[in-house]
Amino acid sequence: MELAEDIVIVGAGIAGLTTALGLHRLGIRSLVLESHDSLRITGFALAIWTNAWKALDAVGITESLRRQHTRLLEVTTTSTISGLTAADIIFSAAGTQDHEVRCVQRKILMETLVKELPSGTIKFSSKVVSIEESGSLKLIHLSDGSILKAKVLVGCDGVNSVVAKWLGFKTPAFVGRFAVRGSVHYENGHGFEPKLFQFIGEGFRSGIVACDDKSLYWFATFSTSMSSQEMEENPAEVKQFVLSKLGKVADNFKAVIRDTELENLSLAPLRFRHPWDILWGSISKSNVCVAGDAFHPMTPDIGQGGCAALEDGVILARCLGEALREKQGIRSEEYKRIEMGLKNYAKERRWRAFEFISTAYMVGYIQTSNSKILSFLRNKVLGGVFAKQQLKIASFDCGKLTTS
Ligand SMILES: Cc1cc2nc3c(=O)[nH]c(=O)nc-3n(C[C@H](O)[C@H](O)[C@H](O)COP(=O)(O)OP(=O)(O)OC[C@H]3O[C@@H](n4cnc5c(N)ncnc54)[C@H](O)[C@@H]3O)c2cc1C
Repeated sequence: MELAEDIVIVGAGIAGLTTALGLHRLGIRSLVLESHDSLRITGFALAIWTNAWKALDAVGITESLRRQHTRLLEVTTTSTISGLTAADIIFSAAGTQDHEVRCVQRKILMETLVKELPSGTIKFSSKVVSIEESGSLKLIHLSDGSILKAKVLVGCDGVNSVVAKWLGFKTPAFVGRFAVRGSVHYENGHGFEPKLFQFIGEGFRSGIVACDDKSLYWFATFSTSMSSQEMEENPAEVKQFVLSKLGKVADNFKAVIRDTELENLSLAPLRFRHPWDILWGSISKSNVCVAGDAFHPMTPDIGQGGCAALEDGVILARCLGEALREKQGIRSEEYKRIEMGLKNYAKERRWRAFEFISTAYMVGYIQTSNSKILSFLRNKVLGGVFAKQQLKIASFDCGKLTTS
């Protein structure tokens, strides 16, 4: 069966939902295809930095998210080896900008995006398996044998993107590190200050942060001789491993790891796209493009992957909106306008994506290096340099969405 749609977005993650909502705000309908039978929420929470608040503002969903999540005041980086503070950056006093950083629960973020979309926008249990050309349209083949025709195809299908592959991108590379994330709910309150507490030392990086008065989120990245499967099968061992790596970190932080129920742990191998693939690769081709992790998978060392996906969604919606605004005109002109709109999006995002991936990789490499010189520099000067770099990246404004 072949069905016709104007704009098809593959993937109901942060990138896909933001793009759909951005288009909706411009009065443009889209269809989101999601392979799972419901929203796929992995990783509990994520840091949402100033740049992402601007994107959330553009799609009009900041109010309830702000109400439900604590504003963080600063990031404190502590050495696991000495137990001493390596850097302390206060968000409100950083440079010329007053930074807004909160740790947002993924479930709340995704559900807030979905709530604003017209019903029927998302089609669950719809896994895209291949893409085919049919004149100026794209034929999207689903795993159930059905086929959709689209004037525009947007790949927001994450790190294993089918659309990125169609555009010619290579499979993202494993960086040799894993991440474990955890979440703990304290019914009577956790008592932690509203700060992002980071711990670094000996090939290991970790952090603990409050989402609200009762919920804490934590993460750790590391390399290990254990395989992905071994870790999946032994979450208790992974928890022990994280505890053993925290060294001289104060006991109240270690207690958070101990208090984490095993079902509230999530493990992920870390993958990224080589920055030069972003520079030379086709972010868009004819009426197809990619956004979010499908476009620029990065290591989580600057906590910006989801924020970048939010920026992509707003900018892509704006570029597509401009292309589709002129409704009249013959079909070939519309195709050219769409192609140009996606080219403009690619042009706006290429260097930004390059900056995200390369900064995250470099920060991760140095923060988790075992080298004695790098450890010394990290504890003396680099901690502060990294925190400032994080704030510089967060000082980006993706702009607004307007229908005029
Ligand atoms: C340890 C860790 C910590 C992180 N911390 C932060 C942080 O603090 N701040 C931050 O901003 N970011 C963070 N990130 C990054 C962030 O999680 C991702 O960048 C973000 O979730 C990407 O969203 P996305 O929508 O592009 O992709 P995804 O969330 O992967 O969504 C892709 C969607 O597409 C669907 N899909 C896939 N293939 C198909 C198909 N063939 N057909 C149909 N549907 C399909 C999937 O089911 C999924 O729902 C972190 C990542 C990790 C691993």
